[in-house]
Parts: sequence; C-alpha cells; structure tokens
Amino acid sequence: MDFKKFLNELKKITSDFLDKKEDLYVYAFDTSQNPDVVTLPLAVVFPKNKFEVSKIAKLCNDYNIAIIPRAQGTNHCGATRASKNSIVMHFSKMNKIISIDKENLIAIVEPNVIIKDLNDKLDKLNLFFPPDPSNLAVSTLGGAIALCSGGARTFKYSNTKDYVINLEVVLANGEIIETSKNLAKNVTGYNLTSLFVGSEGTLGLITKATLKLIPKPKTRMLTLCYFDNLYDASKCTDAIISSGLNPASIDLIDDITIKTIEKFNPCDFKLDKKAMLLIEQDGFSQCVEFEQKILRDVLIKQNIAESDFYQTKNEEENENIYRARRSAFGALAQLKPNVVTEDIVVARNKIFDLIKKIEHLSKKYNIMTAIMGHIGDGNIHPNFALDLSNETEKNNFEKLKDELFSYAISLDGTLSGEHGIGNLKRKYLDMALQDNSHKLMKEIKKLLDPKNILNPNKAI
Ligand SMILES: Cc1cc2nc3c(=O)[nH]c(=O)nc-3n(C[C@H](O)[C@H](O)[C@H](O)COP(=O)(O)OP(=O)(O)OC[C@H]3O[C@@H](n4cnc5c(N)ncnc54)[C@H](O)[C@@H]3O)c2cc1C
Repeated sequence: MDFKKFLNELKKITSDFLDKKEDLYVYAFDTSQNPDVVTLPLAVVFPKNKFEVSKIAKLCNDYNIAIIPRAQGTNHCGATRASKNSIVMHFSKMNKIISIDKENLIAIVEPNVIIKDLNDKLDKLNLFFPPDPSNLAVSTLGGAIALCSGGARTFKYSNTKDYVINLEVVLANGEIIETSKNLAKNVTGYNLTSLFVGSEGTLGLITKATLKLIPKPKTRMLTLCYFDNLYDASKCTDAIISSGLNPASIDLIDDITIKTIEKFNPCDFKLDKKAMLLIEQDGFSQCVEFEQKILRDVLIKQNIAESDFYQTKNEEENENIYRARRSAFGALAQLKPNVVTEDIVVARNKIFDLIKKIEHLSKKYNIMTAIMGHIGDGNIHPNFALDLSNETEKNNFEKLKDELFSYAISLDGTLSGEHGIGNLKRKYLDMALQDNSHKLMKEIKKLLDPKNILNPNKAI
C-alpha cells in the first residue's frame, strides 16, 4: 500500500488535515475505558461539506483505507477507536443549524451541532428536541443519531430514532443519498432512515439530518423519593406507572452514586438511604401541579413517609438537581483510575433480578459498583470503578462482564439500550442476536460497504 501517495491525494481534497504523531494519538481514543494497545490513524481530516466527505470516501474506498467517523468521541463503547490503516473523519467543521421550521416542526442540522445548542435555540421558539443524553452539553446530533442515544426522558418521549425523519448520507463509494423526505410521515419505500440511525458510522457518513420537533412543555417539576432498598424503588416504579401517570422520566440512583454526587456537587440529597427515584413530570403548569398531587398519593399509598420524598417548587431547584445528576459520571470518575459505564436493558418486571445479579457480581469480583439507570425503561447503567492497569482487576472485570451480559440475555434482555456496541461489546453479539438476523445485518453491511472501510470492527 502506497500510504504516501494516498496522503498526498487526501491533502489535495482538504487542507484541514493532521498527521503528526502527537495529534494522531489524541484522536486514537474515545471515552470508552479500553486498555488495549492503541492503534494510531494515518491522518485526521476535517471536511467542510458533503462534497469533501464524498471525495474522501471515494479516495479511501479506492485505496482500501478505513474511515472512522468521529464527533466528540464521548461514546462509552469504543465506537470511535481508530483501527489499522484508517483515517479519522472529524465532523467538527460541519456544525451549523441550517434551519428551524416552526410551522412544520422540523429542524435541519449539520452533524456536529451540539444537542444543547440546538435546544437552546429551540427554547426561544417554544420548541423542543427531546433526546437528552446526560452529556448533551458536549455530545452532537450526528453522534446521537449514529448511536441512537437516549437519556432520562425516553420513558415518555422515546429516543433519537423517533426524531430523525430524513438523513443525507455519503456512502462508502462516495455516492450521496437522502433516506427520505422532510415530511412528518412517509411510508414510500423501505425505512432507510431507521437503517442508518444506530448504525454507529458503519453504513454511511451523515452529512445532514432533518429532525422532528415537538412543542416545548411549558413547565417541569421533579420529585425525589428515597428508599431503604433498591427493591422498594423498583416496586414503587411499577406503582407509579400503573397509576396511569406518564412522567417524562423515572430514574434510579443508588446510595454510592448519591453520596458521590453529593460529595462533589452538594445538592442536599439524603445520605442515609439506599436508593432514590428522580421523577420528572412536565406539561402545562396546572396539569403538572395536578399530576404531582396524584404522584404524592401514589407514594403515600406505597407507605413512603412524607419526610422521604420532596417535590421541587421552581425551575431553579430543578436545574440544581439536574446539574448534580448530570455530574454523576464525572463524580464517580474520582473514585478510581477507571470508571466503566455499562448499559443493559431488560423488561421492567425483571429489573430487580438484574440489580441483584449486579450486586452479587460486584461482591464476587470485588469491584466497586454504583448503579444508576432509566428504570422506567428497564435500562440500567452499572458504573464499575476499578484500576484497569491492575491485571487481576482487569481479568476479574472481564469475567464479571461475561457473566453479567449472559445473565441479561438469559432474562430476555440485551446488551445496550442507548450506548451502542462499538468494538467493546462485539464479542457478545453472537449470544445477543438471532443467527439469521445477525447474518442479515452482515449482508446489509457488505452491500453498502463491500470493502468494509466504514468504521470496521464496530457495531455488528
Ligand atoms: C458523561 C456521559 C454521559 C452520557 N449519558 C448518556 C445518556 O444519558 N444517554 C445516552 O444515550 N448516552 C449517553 N452518553 C453517551 C452518548 O451516547 C454519546 O456521548 C453521544 O450520544 C454521542 O457522542 P458524540 O457526539 O461524542 O459522538 P462520538 O462518540 O464521536 O461518535 C459516536 C458514534 O457516532 C459515529 N458518528 C459520529 N459522527 C458521525 C457522522 N457524521 N456520520 C456517521 N457516523 C458518525 C461514530 O463513528 C460513533 O460510532 C453519555 C456519555 C458521557 C461521556
């Protein structure tokens, strides 16, 4: 392979280009805690538009060079880890909000628009894009689309897949396609948009996205409710849902997480309890007030003392609590050299079995574990605090994950609800997917990317 010739050709397409070793090193990593040997990309490019993306894809396809699409690199699953003979395609120069159409409730964006920046703009127009990964102040729409990110509000509003109505995508051979039209409804042909959402950059390079918006809920209020054990928190979640309430989110936070957040971001959380539910209700203020009262009644019926729950009164309190909640990952990262955030989903009625198993494995392998999760969706994030440079801890952690994921699958659950597969969870795919559907996915990949140049060794 004549890399020099390839790099010269690449430089002719774009001058936004890095190839010094120290720069390449930076773009070889992402947020995932993966202690394996680091592979450096050959170069990092920063295309400015779909035409540059297309030319670069065609060149890479001709030279058999892999492309690692990259936004902010904040995924937890090794989805932007560089691989052999690859370049990183960084979308940071494609970060414009192209239009917001209030009448038709759509926004058209370039891929590297930060989710919070879009919502700040929408806010002024009383509009709303609901998917809210808790790092939304840094993560991008392109990254969220490629991972089908979720967040706390998925319980009521669903995740990214339900808010993408059309994508402009550059294929591996440089061809530019649109997956649909900018219409709220369209069942003309296959649903290609869905195929690309969650495909982790393995099927195409997203250069533009049309997003569905909804009217912004006028107000939101939070209820914090404390428990002596995780089982009671799980039962209470069932009671809330069967009461007919439809909260925006029902999140679970365990005692280690509460204490760690409180230490780094004091918020007056109760420290003598084993678990907390954080429930958001939103809508018109009169409705929220009414529904808060219904929630209060449900909690009292569950024998929860009035001193064990608190309902916020204003947006300032909400913001303080959310700031603390969003700092959880950063706070936990201070416990040990590595904190690995996992992502498992089971049916909600099996959540307590899953939590018991996590606690059991944490003791068995002596790995400190803090549990959080979007319990309303059956989606749990155990955070494992450990030192991955310690061989014993690293090996124990591998055994823990093997047991945990096979247990989740034995419960009819699966490997990820919102963080994706990347290169870290691929080894579990055979047990998580049906043989014939996995085979079909590989055939789709081969059809769209016969030379396997788009984010190889990720997702499937
Ligand atoms: C502190 C913290 C909290 C988090 N909380 C949540 C949470 O609550 N819920 C949740 O769902 N996730 C959460 N995440 C993970 C989250 O999914 C990602 O951070 C985010 O959605 C995408 O991040 P990014 O923009 O950095 O994309 P990256 O990590 O750079 O990329 C993500 C994927 O998108 C692909 N990609 C990027 N741009 C393109 C493009 N233009 N075309 C094709 N493919 C592309 C990449 O190849 C990769 O596969 C959290 C992460 C952190 C660090």
